[in-house]
Amino acid sequence: MSGEDIVPQPIQNSETAVRVVFGAAKRMSIAAEVQRIGASKVLVLATPQQSDAALEIAELLGPLAVGVFCKAEMHTPVHVTEAAMAQVAETQTDCLIAIGGGSTTGLGKAIAFRTGLPQIVIPTTYAGSECTPILGQTEKGVKTTLSDPSVLPEVILYDSELVRTLPVPMTVTSALNAMAHAAEALYATNRTGETTAMAIQGLEAFIDGLPRVLREPSDLLAREATLRGAWACGTVLGRVDMALHHKLCHTLGGAFNLPHAETHAIVLPHAIAYNARAAGRELQPICDLLGGENAGTALHAFAQKMNAPTALRDLGLQQRDLDHAADLATTKPYPNPQPVTRDDIRALLQAAWAEDAPIQ
Ligand code: NAD
Repeated sequence: MSGEDIVPQPIQNSETAVRVVFGAAKRMSIAAEVQRIGASKVLVLATPQQSDAALEIAELLGPLAVGVFCKAEMHTPVHVTEAAMAQVAETQTDCLIAIGGGSTTGLGKAIAFRTGLPQIVIPTTYAGSECTPILGQTEKGVKTTLSDPSVLPEVILYDSELVRTLPVPMTVTSALNAMAHAAEALYATNRTGETTAMAIQGLEAFIDGLPRVLREPSDLLAREATLRGAWACGTVLGRVDMALHHKLCHTLGGAFNLPHAETHAIVLPHAIAYNARAAGRELQPICDLLGGENAGTALHAFAQKMNAPTALRDLGLQQRDLDHAADLATTKPYPNPQPVTRDDIRALLQAAWAEDAPIQ
């Protein structure tokens, strides 16, 4: 499936529906999207690395744009949000456009949370933040997370042309980051038939689309397939509870400042092999899609085939940190298919650190 397609997405706990648009070059109709919302003073958000993309959007908006703010950073630091808020007030912004990955989306959500402004998100990675009511913010080194439907965007515009520039290594880690949402959705305690179907759809999109993207990174149909996967995986992330995998990645990212997508890519096969001990039946769709008897080892083989990073030590984590990481990851209990014990998590982390095969 390609080209124009609009998917109304009913959101849990909210009367609003997010307008989701897929298609190559869809950003060209950005002015019409703004007018549909009834806005006329748009602030465009991006990271410094994607300022060109933000400027292109501002140019397409013409007089509808009141400025660009290209200082988005990973983990949504509050001081950056406050700097953007000053520009929002100064320009009387009435609509936000976030173009980029989860970091830029996070900034847009943080401003929307404080102001109620409508948002249009143009995702350029597969992280999926645009589909969730979750906002993580950092202040003085402490990351806090909240969930509020008011941070959901009004419009998500997936333009496959924009994701072509995502470097291949990041394409792979970002895809595995998205697949992690779907994998954990398969055994979520509050899953429904609909979320399971959507998780399988998301996994399938990446298992089919990612090898095609790697063969030809500018293949727009393959890129669009992966963006559809990102939407499905992000949507289930927003609808059901995540477990061991996401808790581990949150701990490693927060305490040791490890990069988001890479950490997800490395931990995923290990966390899923761990939970396959108790949730083999729920994880069977992964074996059906990838082959093999164990969903964790199947994901491990897939990640290796995609040339994903496979060792936490390569991200700068020291072996001596593993004890502390295991302590942090097991202090607060949470629902997980396989009981979480400190010794088991220490062993899992050791394997993920040293590039060993996932422990079954
Ligand atoms: P990112 O947004 O930090 O992007 C990484 C780098 O890649 C940035 O420099 C960015 O400008 C660049 N980039 C992005 N797309 C590009 C493209 N198409 N071409 C060239 N360069 C591009 O990375 P991410 O993995 O998308 O997001 C990670 C952040 O998102 C983390 O802070 C994470 O906590 C958050 N996140 C939040 C949620 C949520 O639901 N709240 C979900 C997923 C991720």
